[in-house]
Amino acid sequence: MVSRIIPVETFDLVIFGGTGDLARRKILPGLFKRFCDGQMPVGSRIIAAARSELDLSGFQDFVVEAVEDALGTPDADQISGFVDTLDYVTIDALGEEGWADLAAKLPAFDKVRAFYFSVGPSLFEALAERLHKHGLVDTETRIVVEKPFGRDQESAKALNATLRRHFDESQIYRIDHYLGKETVQNLMAVRFGNMLFEPLWNSQYIDHIQISVAEDVGVGGRGAYYDKSGAMRDMVQNHLMQLLCLTAMEPPSFFEPDAVRDEKLKVIRALTPVEPHHIVRGQYTDSSDEVTYREDVGDPRSRTESYIALKCHVSNWRWAGTPFYLRTGKRLKARDSEINVVFKQTPHSIFGPEAGEHHNELRIQLQPDEGINLRVTIKEPGPGGMRLMDVPLDMSFAEALGEDADTPDAYERLIMDVIRGNQTLFMRDDEVEAAWAWTDPIIQGWEARHDVPKPYESFSNGPTDADLLIERDGRNWREIGR
Ligand code: NAP
Repeated sequence: MVSRIIPVETFDLVIFGGTGDLARRKILPGLFKRFCDGQMPVGSRIIAAARSELDLSGFQDFVVEAVEDALGTPDADQISGFVDTLDYVTIDALGEEGWADLAAKLPAFDKVRAFYFSVGPSLFEALAERLHKHGLVDTETRIVVEKPFGRDQESAKALNATLRRHFDESQIYRIDHYLGKETVQNLMAVRFGNMLFEPLWNSQYIDHIQISVAEDVGVGGRGAYYDKSGAMRDMVQNHLMQLLCLTAMEPPSFFEPDAVRDEKLKVIRALTPVEPHHIVRGQYTDSSDEVTYREDVGDPRSRTESYIALKCHVSNWRWAGTPFYLRTGKRLKARDSEINVVFKQTPHSIFGPEAGEHHNELRIQLQPDEGINLRVTIKEPGPGGMRLMDVPLDMSFAEALGEDADTPDAYERLIMDVIRGNQTLFMRDDEVEAAWAWTDPIIQGWEARHDVPKPYESFSNGPTDADLLIERDGRNWREIGR
C-alpha cells in the first residue's frame, strides 16, 4: 500500500516550553517523523522558546537526543536536515526578555504561523498579551493550548475569556491527544462509513458500553500536579468524555469541525447527573516493592483519587436505557485502553439453554496497540453438537495495513491539523465548559463530604467496589490486560 501524505503549507511553528518534557517526548520527535515523511515543506521552521540560556547548537543537541530517546538512532541525513529547520530563542513569558529577538525571527506573515503553548496555563495570558504587543500575530495565526484547560467550569470560562480577548475561537486549538489517535478517528469511520453498524447503534441493540483507560504506571514525578487534580479532572473530564462523545454522538451532516463539535456538545449536554452510588473513587496502595499513592505525592493524608469508575446515561432517544460505564486509573494491572460496545443477546436462542449467553462485542482498542475487533458467535468446531463460542474478527492495524500501520502518533497528526487549519479534532470553548459543568457537581460532592477514596492494590483491576458497581447490574468489566 502506498502511504498518502497530504502536503501542508510552509509554516513557522513556535513552541513555548520547547525544552520541556512534552516537547522532548512528543512534540519534537513527532515533528521529526513528519519531516522524514516530507510533511515539512522547505522553508518551514520550528522555533523553540524557553527561559533557559541555550545557544542554537545546544538546542539542536537536545533535539537529537530527544529523537534518539523516542525513536532510536535516526538516519544521519534526515536528522541533519531536521536540525537545520530548528531555531531557539531565550524568552521569559512573564518578562520582556527575548521578545524582540523572536519578533526579528518572524519578520513577515508569509507562512502559516502557529504558537504552541506547551507551558503551564498560568502563562497563557502573559503569552497571548505579549504576542500581540510585539506584533507577532495576525487574524490567521493559530495558538495551540495544552491541558489542563481549567480545573472547573469557572476557571475554564475565565481561561476562554482571556484567550478570546486576544484570539478568535477559530484560531484556538485546545488539544486532547486522545482525539488524535488513529483508532479514535476510525471509530467515526467505522460508525459513519459503514452501513453495518449504525442501524444497530442504539439502545434497542446495544446492552451497554464500557470505556476503560488503564495505566500501569503511578503518578511518578507528576505527583505534585496530580495530587491537586485527580483522575476525574486529569482523565475523565477530557479524554474519557471525548471518547464517550464520539461513541454516542449522532452522525454530523458533514465531517467538518463545527458539525462534529456540535454533535459532541449535544452528548455532553444530554448526560444525566451521576448518582453518588454510581461512582467509585480509588487510590493505589502498596504492593511488595512499590510506593503507595500517598508516598508518591508526599502527603500521607491525601484524599485525591488515582482511580475512577462510574456509570452514566446519555438521556436521548438513541441511548435511553443503555448505561455507559467509564473507568480509568493508575498503577493498574496493565496499560490497556479500550472502548467496548456490548450488544444485546439475540431475542430468542434457537439452540436452547445449553448454548449459553452470547453477546456480540465491538472492541475499539487504543492502547497498547490500536485496532478494532468484532466478536461474533459461531459453532464450536467438532462433533459435539451445536455448542456456541465467541471468536474475534480481528482488524489489528499492524497486521491488516502492513507498512502503512506505522501510523502517526496523535501529536504529529494534531500538529499537522493545526498547520492545515482543521479544528475538527480540537475541543471548542463550549464543549470544555459543558464537560466541566457535568464533572463539577461530582467533585464538589466529594469535597463537601470529605470523601476518602477506596484503597486498591497496585497492579490490580482497581477497587472491589468498582466490580460491584457493574456486577449489581448483572454485567462485568472486561478484564484489564486481556
Ligand atoms: P515542563 O517539563 O515543566 O516544561 C515547561 C516548559 O516551559 C519548559 O520548557 C520551561 O523552560 C518553560 N517555561 C517555564 N516557565 C517559563 C516562562 N516563564 N517563560 C518561558 N518558558 C517557560 O512541562 P511539560 O510537562 O512539558 O508540560 C507543558 C504543558 O503541557 C503543561 O501545561 C502540561 O500540563 C501539559 N501536558 C504535558 C504532558 C506531558 O506528558 N508532559 C501531557 C499533557 C499535557 P524554562 O524553565 O527553561 O523556561
